[in-house]
Amino acid sequence: MTQCLFCEIAAGKIPSKKVDETNSLFSFRDIHPQAPVHILIIPKKHISKLSELTAGDVQLMGEITAFANQIASIQKLTDYRLVVNNGAEAGQTVFHLHVHLLAGRKMNWPPG
Ligand code: AMP
Ligand code: ZN
Repeated sequence: MTQCLFCEIAAGKIPSKKVDETNSLFSFRDIHPQAPVHILIIPKKHISKLSELTAGDVQLMGEITAFANQIASIQKLTDYRLVVNNGAEAGQTVFHLHVHLLAGRKMNWPPG
């Protein structure tokens, strides 16, 4: 596989502001935060985007959601937004599955 930025971050080969990790997941601060709290949650295993998930990844997505809730709880966040951009037109720029956890300001809906 060609080099992947988020694989390198999860492996600690490229520095990041780590928030937390589990055996299968890694979380870190977004380098260009769009809200006072902007954390990215990624699987350590390379999956290019949400639509590439297979039936075998159902548990992984459950873990990601539980991990996001746990991070929010530790950070005493009650209100937050989880976002996944799937594909370039949806705004995906890094092709390693990631969930954005955004909080700390009033969120607009619908997003731009
Ligand atoms: P997306 O546009 O959904 O693919 O989100 C990719 C996110 O990764 C963007 O919000 C970027 O600011 C963020 N990002 C890119 N490079 C880094 C990096 N080296 N460390 C932390 N966040 C990054
Ligand atoms: Zn990757």
